[in-house]
Amino acid sequence: MRGIELGRKKLFGGIEGGGTKFNCVIGPSPEEVWARTSFPTTTPEETLTRAIGFFQEGKAEYGILSAIGVASFGPVDLNRHSQHYGYITTAPKPNWTYIDVVGNITRALNIPVAFDTDVNCATLAEGAFGAARGLRNFVYVTVGTGIGAGVVADGRLVNGAMHPEVGHMLLPRFDEDNDFRGSCAFHGDCLEGLASGPAIEARWGCKGQDLPSGHPAWALQARYLAAMCINLTLCYAPERIILGGGVMSQKQLFAMTRTEFSKLLNGYTTLPAAADPDNYIVPSALDGHSGEVGALIVAEKLFQQSDSQ
Ligand code: ADP
Ligand code: ZN
Repeated sequence: MRGIELGRKKLFGGIEGGGTKFNCVIGPSPEEVWARTSFPTTTPEETLTRAIGFFQEGKAEYGILSAIGVASFGPVDLNRHSQHYGYITTAPKPNWTYIDVVGNITRALNIPVAFDTDVNCATLAEGAFGAARGLRNFVYVTVGTGIGAGVVADGRLVNGAMHPEVGHMLLPRFDEDNDFRGSCAFHGDCLEGLASGPAIEARWGCKGQDLPSGHPAWALQARYLAAMCINLTLCYAPERIILGGGVMSQKQLFAMTRTEFSKLLNGYTTLPAAADPDNYIVPSALDGHSGEVGALIVAEKLFQQSDSQ
């Protein structure tokens, strides 16, 4: 077993469970990954069995894992007193409603399993190792198939009676966009219905990655993202807003969003950070790995908590 050769370091597992694919990693710390696999999200049975199999093989190769962290797509139940704690609950993805993720993994591997949303985990990762390193107040937003955000206030993730659902905030409609009804199944033209990857595709009849960088889609996108940043600024007074996810691969969006943000803010607020948009609205610094890094962070935290008790 390489675990013995490698000096008996503690080992952790991480799962970034997305609606499209699952990424699984094993490593001794969030910054060091020894093994990685990725596979499509199919049925819950097949997908969780593959993830469990990866960790069983990992144990044989590297040694015993101390804990596993799951960064899950959602909605999920994070209330430890709920009968559905650790479940993916009312997910729109077919076959994935009320799936006991934590229970299935715990029973199969018999080790502690930490559980949080994919975006909360990515937020922790940005705070520990990424674009929000050293900050105690920030927001991380992913703009992809859906839009989700993790909010950190005074060094802690904000989870109220459940995790926030920033992606469904309501925004002003811009005149040039009045013909588009929005793509959210629940609200039509909420933020996600106006500015997620599927919203862009529904509005323009073409996936975002296939639209040229000078297409009018991006000017409109920047206005909606700026409106979102205004609301986040006014609600949470963060020191920085980090934007990640597939849609933010359009790097031109950053400068455009900052310009629109300054226009919409119009000098209001004494929040110093907002006065310097270049350092306020910034890209993720973890190159698409924030979810799995965050999964390892929550695994390590859970182990440290249980070890100190
Ligand atoms: P997910 O949200 O499923 O975890 P992503 O963050 O990669 O995954 O987001 C996927 C969405 O981002 C899709 O709707 C896709 O069309 C869009 N997207 C991916 N790459 C780009 C790109 N280069 N430009 C604009 N949109 C993109
Ligand atoms: Zn919505």
